Amino acid sequence: MSKELNPHTSNIEHRISNIVILGGGESGVGAALLGKAKGFAVFLSDKGKLSDKYRRVLEDNEIEFEEEGHTEDRILAAGEVIKSPGIPDKADIIQKIKTKGIPVISEIEFAARYTKAKLIAITGSNGKTTTTLLTYHLLKSAGLHVALAGNVGESFAKQVIEDTFDYFVLEISSFQLDNSYQFHPHIAILLNITPDHLDRYEYTFQKYIDSKFRIIQQQTAHDFFIYYADDKAITAELDKHNFIPIKLPITTQFPDHLIGKPDISYLKDDTLTVNFHYGHQEPMRIRMEELPIQGKHNAINAIAAILVTRILRIEEEKVKAGLKTFKNAPHRLEPAGEVNGVKFVNDSKATNVDSVFYALGSFKQPLVWIAGGLDKGNDYNQIQDLVKEKVKALVCLGKDNSKLKAYFKGIVPEIRETQDVREAIKLGLSLAQPGDVVLLSPACASFDLFRNYEDRGQQFKAAVQQLMQENGELE
Ligand code: ADP
Repeated sequence: MSKELNPHTSNIEHRISNIVILGGGESGVGAALLGKAKGFAVFLSDKGKLSDKYRRVLEDNEIEFEEEGHTEDRILAAGEVIKSPGIPDKADIIQKIKTKGIPVISEIEFAARYTKAKLIAITGSNGKTTTTLLTYHLLKSAGLHVALAGNVGESFAKQVIEDTFDYFVLEISSFQLDNSYQFHPHIAILLNITPDHLDRYEYTFQKYIDSKFRIIQQQTAHDFFIYYADDKAITAELDKHNFIPIKLPITTQFPDHLIGKPDISYLKDDTLTVNFHYGHQEPMRIRMEELPIQGKHNAINAIAAILVTRILRIEEEKVKAGLKTFKNAPHRLEPAGEVNGVKFVNDSKATNVDSVFYALGSFKQPLVWIAGGLDKGNDYNQIQDLVKEKVKALVCLGKDNSKLKAYFKGIVPEIRETQDVREAIKLGLSLAQPGDVVLLSPACASFDLFRNYEDRGQQFKAAVQQLMQENGELE
């Protein structure tokens, strides 16, 4: 990977006075507020309708904006454009901006110019939110002056206006990395790279990999790169280049290329060993049962978060105390209730096959698996063996279930289908024995039957609660 610098972004403030922000969500409105605070003439343009909340913020702060359409002349007069991660490069307006040679950057790139804080940036196809929240929680509960931003919570841009924090923990998507050039995290975490969002990368996996690796493009020999070393896409990329930062691999398989390397962290025999010898620290060991999040994938996430605490020299007792009080975001292997000894688990956030692979692997009990929705080009080969081993029945919950049914016919003994979440739960219960788990882990997007994955998870939880009530389990 060559270090890609945007010639337009260095000392940019000296040359431009007007910026245009495309997209009026959390990051766009945050960027508008920051731009205004730093003295730029700011214009925000959104092709869709703004939410009342953000429209009011713009009005209250006297920031010019338009919605439900773009005024091209005005946008093409910008000195620099800050683009919301939701807008693809192939969008008409972006093409025109690029043709005119106007630099396009992400909100992360813009905000990072205005902070002295150390940045901890977390990316990957799966596990970003969990790892970001856990890292933030461990740092905050240890007493550090730290803020949370990126794809979660309040925008990074808004939070650097005052610039009072010592650290930012940032959840970073590949879309934000695509338009980042000088963005320089002190600690970067890359959890995994599996084919996802390929529609935004010309259906070329390598382009998506390149995007993820932009997270370390500005790192120096004093910075840290924490990565999952069992991920072949990551290690293949590392083999190709001479990367500068201090590398801290995480493994469960001890591949050959790690033999003889220092500072390897790993999961073995249900124990996490977190290894970073800086200042002659002893490795930190934690039993899986001490973790607030379960499953092998979450052990990897936890090792990554704990490695950050080791780099920042936070005492082990404080880390262990922090682990005890962590609560993950909802819809990620979230317990949803129990009826007649059957446990219900909401993993609605599992919108691709890789996250289902880890979800299935997190249970020792027999599973009734609820899956389906909008298929993003799923390849079920990766989970075929696990499904065969663990899943006693499959309930398809999607508008069109033909692909799921065809693939798992002959693999899963019992397959049912419904378009109603309450019906799915009742079917799940009827197919399960006490001690089994009914797991919603859809492997698909939710937009065919639900507003989004949160709505799907919410409806699932509400339906379980209702069933518990009907069954007298809530008394
Ligand atoms: P993201 O923010 O990257 O979407 P989340 O933390 O919200 O990640 O988790 C999304 C889904 O991925 C969940 O279903 C979760 O169980 C699964 N998951 C979490 N961590 C990992 C990991 N390290 N590897 C694979 N899957 C994971």
